[in-house]
Amino acid sequence: MKGYRAIYFTKNTGFQLVLFSFLLLCLVSCRPSNENPSPPWEDFVIFREGNFPLIIVAPHGGDLKPQWIEDRDCANSVITQDQYTLGIALQLEEKLKTLGIEPFMVLTKIHRIKVDLNRSLTTSHCEDDTSNELWRLFHRQIEDYSSQVANEFGQGLLIDLHGHGHSVQRIELGYLLSGQQLRDFSQSGNPAQSIQTSIDGLLANHPRNQPLDSLIFGAESLGTLLSNNGFPATPSQQDPAPLEGQPFFSGGSNTKNYGSSEGGQIDAIQIEMNREGLRQTSQDRERFTQAFAEILAQYMRYHYADVTSSL
Ligand SMILES: [Zn+2]
Repeated sequence: MKGYRAIYFTKNTGFQLVLFSFLLLCLVSCRPSNENPSPPWEDFVIFREGNFPLIIVAPHGGDLKPQWIEDRDCANSVITQDQYTLGIALQLEEKLKTLGIEPFMVLTKIHRIKVDLNRSLTTSHCEDDTSNELWRLFHRQIEDYSSQVANEFGQGLLIDLHGHGHSVQRIELGYLLSGQQLRDFSQSGNPAQSIQTSIDGLLANHPRNQPLDSLIFGAESLGTLLSNNGFPATPSQQDPAPLEGQPFFSGGSNTKNYGSSEGGQIDAIQIEMNREGLRQTSQDRERFTQAFAEILAQYMRYHYADVTSSL
């Protein structure tokens, strides 16, 4: 019996050794094909949850150009980076924190030559759809934070940060109103009947029932507050509308999709920052982000008083 057991044990051990060797070999060579692993998209984004109904988005400030995503080279593709806007968003967050405000942050570090995150999925790239997963990750996060802000606070504001290259050195605020609409509106004092803006939710729920012209051109409008603090902006009390023929950004896909022009509790304003005296030097950026943080705090506490007074 003893001998039989010894033989059996030896046979069994031999089988185990073969099995072990096979498994070891598999570890080295039988792994499933992994030639196209999912890229680490988290490395290309910065998402941070906040404690205040303000969401800051910056889609064009990144400088990462991974070789494995083709450049956007189709006709009319705008591929320039909005210089310093990623850094400005982060500095703004820091300044806001010193005021007790933690905004929700949705930023990307990827360069616009690879994917444009202020466009629809199908137009965010040319032929190469490798970046679709990044596009979905970025926009799902904006949607999640927007829902969270709406649920927790009831109302909120999203600002979409950009940098423009227009020759007139002023901030252009996009409420989805074109230069012509702003000229007509500021001259007549009455908006055209069909007018839709990205702050229609604010208009409907304003704690002081301010009319739309006050929200766009009034003493407490964002453009007027910026201009008062040494950062000229249009539309504002000081500069109600761009002149005929002057280029102006009225708001892109993020402002349309995440603002309240079609309803909802989250408003959006596109902030197109000029270069001279604002983005150009580190001193400019320091001065601007400090002032803008204070202006945003004042703006939110005044216009969103119902939901910010207890924060
Ligand atoms: Zn931009």
